[in-house]
Amino acid sequence: MRKTLVSLSTEEFVENIAEVARSRFDCQTFPQENLSADDWTLLVKAGVLLPAIPTEFGGRDSHVEMCRVVETLAEWNLPLAMYTKIITAVALRPIALRASEEAKREMLPLFATDDPMICGFASTEPGCGSAMSSMTTTYEEVEGGYRIRGRKHWQGFSSTAHWWLVSAKNDRDGRKYGYFIVKRSEGFRTIRRYEPVGMKVLDYGLNEIDAVVPKHRKIDAPERNLSAMVEMLMAPRSMMAALACGFLRRIEREAHAYANSRRIGPVPLADIRFARYRLTSIEAAQTICAALNRYLMTELSVKSEMTGSFPAVQALKTVCTELMLRAAHHYQQLVGGEGYRCGSPTNIAGQAFLDTRVFTIFDGTNDLLSQQLTQFCLDNRGDVALSGFLATSPLTAPGVAAHGVDLSFLDRDLKQEHLVLGGRAIAYTFAITQVMAWTREAEDGSLNRAKAAIEFLKADIDGIARQFDLLTTGVLDADDRQSAQYVSP
Ligand SMILES: Cc1cc2nc3c(=O)[nH]c(=O)nc-3n(C[C@H](O)[C@H](O)[C@H](O)COP(=O)(O)OP(=O)(O)OC[C@H]3O[C@@H](n4cnc5c(N)ncnc54)[C@H](O)[C@@H]3O)c2cc1C
Repeated sequence: MRKTLVSLSTEEFVENIAEVARSRFDCQTFPQENLSADDWTLLVKAGVLLPAIPTEFGGRDSHVEMCRVVETLAEWNLPLAMYTKIITAVALRPIALRASEEAKREMLPLFATDDPMICGFASTEPGCGSAMSSMTTTYEEVEGGYRIRGRKHWQGFSSTAHWWLVSAKNDRDGRKYGYFIVKRSEGFRTIRRYEPVGMKVLDYGLNEIDAVVPKHRKIDAPERNLSAMVEMLMAPRSMMAALACGFLRRIEREAHAYANSRRIGPVPLADIRFARYRLTSIEAAQTICAALNRYLMTELSVKSEMTGSFPAVQALKTVCTELMLRAAHHYQQLVGGEGYRCGSPTNIAGQAFLDTRVFTIFDGTNDLLSQQLTQFCLDNRGDVALSGFLATSPLTAPGVAAHGVDLSFLDRDLKQEHLVLGGRAIAYTFAITQVMAWTREAEDGSLNRAKAAIEFLKADIDGIARQFDLLTTGVLDADDRQSAQYVSP
C-alpha cells in the first residue's frame, strides 16, 4: 500500500485523499469530537503525512502536495485540515529540515507507516503566547543529553501526541533558546484537559514537562534569539492560504445553495440585494484566498528555509484568516436561526463560525503579526516614506500602481496602534497584487470575480485610512476636559 502511494502522480494522490475526506469526514455529518485513532489511521493510510516526509524515509517530500492535502481536507472538514497541518507543517517540517540524521532516522520513518502517529508543537505557556521571550520552560545539559522542565498549554494533541517538538530556554551563559524532540514517554504529561469552543477534533490541555532527551534530539537552530521559532512558524502560517482556499470554496458553495433554496416570502433569499452583497463578499474572500494560495504554491516552498519570505507570510496568514472569519460570519447571518443550530441538516454555518473564530488568534495572533509587518517595512524602507517604499516593493507595487491605492496615510509618526492597522493595509495591498497575478493565469470568467475581490480589498484599505482619522480624534487618550467641551450643547 505504502509503495503504491509513493508512486502515484500528484493528481491521483490528492484525489485519493479527497475521496476519503468526502466519503468519511464531511463536517456536515462527522461528529464534532476528538478524532479517534481509527479515523486518524484511515487518513494516514491515505497518505496525508507523506508529503512532509523526505523520500529516503518513505515519504513523497513535496511542498505542493503538503499544501494541496490541507486545501482538500479543509473543503470537507476544516479542523481535520488543521490537525494534519500541525503535524506536517508545524512539527515534522522543522524536524525534516533541521534535526540531526540520527534523530530523523529514529523518528521520521515511523510517520511513513500505516500507524496513526501524532507529533505536536509545544511552545505556548500559561504565562506567554505572543511574547515568547517570557517563556519559563528551561533546558540544561546533563549527562547523556538535556533535561527540559516546564509547563506548556493549549497544545493541539495535548493528551494524544506520541512525539513533541518543545521550545525551551537556558539562562546560564546569557539567554539561549533550544528546540528538542521529546517522546511523550520521556516525561510529557497532560495534567488538565481544556474544552475548546470549536475545533473539537483536536484535544487540548495544560501540559507538564520533565524529560531527559538524548543529545542528538536537539534541533540545529540559532540560539541567541527567537529567529528560529519565527522561521519554524512561517510554514504553517503561509499554509493558511491553502487551508482558507479549500474552506472558502466549500462555504461559497454552501452559502449559494442555501440562499437559492430558502424562500423569504415570495422570493428566494438569493434575490434580496443585501443577501447578494453578503454572497459577493464570500465570493471575494474565496477569490482572494485562491490568489494567495497560488502565491504559496508557486512562489514559496515550505521545504526550504523561509526567513526571506517574512513579509509575504505575515500578509498571507493575516488576510486569509480574517477572510475565513468574515465569510463564515456572512454565511451564518444568511442562514438565520438555522445557522445557530448544532447538527442542522440544511447547513454547516454554526460549526464554520465556531471553527474559524480561533484562526486570527493561534499560529501568531493577527494583531501582533500585522504590527511586525509594518515594522519590517519601516526597517527596510531606507530614506523613503513608507508609502513610497510600498509603491516600489515587488510585493505591493503592482497593486499600488494599477489601482491607485493611496497609502500616504501611513506617512506619519506611527504609534503601536498605527503599526497594527498599517500592517493590515500593507497585507491587503499585497493581496491586491496577488489577485492581479492570479487573474493572469485563471480561467475564463474569473475577471468579474477578480474585479469584485480587488474592490473589497480597496474598501478595506479605505476603512483603515478612516480608522487612522478616528485615532487622531484622541479616542485612545481620553481627556475629561476636552471630552466635556465636545459633548456640551
Ligand atoms: C485552539 C488552539 C490551538 C492551539 N494550538 C497550539 C499548539 O499546537 N501549540 C502551541 O504551542 N500553542 C498553541 N496554541 C496557543 C496559541 O498559539 C496562543 O493562544 C496564541 O499564540 C496567543 O497567545 P496567548 O493565548 O497567550 O495570548 P496573549 O499573548 O495573551 O495575547 C492576547 C491578545 O492580546 C492581543 N495582543 C497581543 N500582542 C499584541 C500586539 N502586539 N498588538 C495588538 N494586540 C496584541 C491580541 O489581541 C491577542 O489575541 C493554540 C491555541 C488555541 C486557542
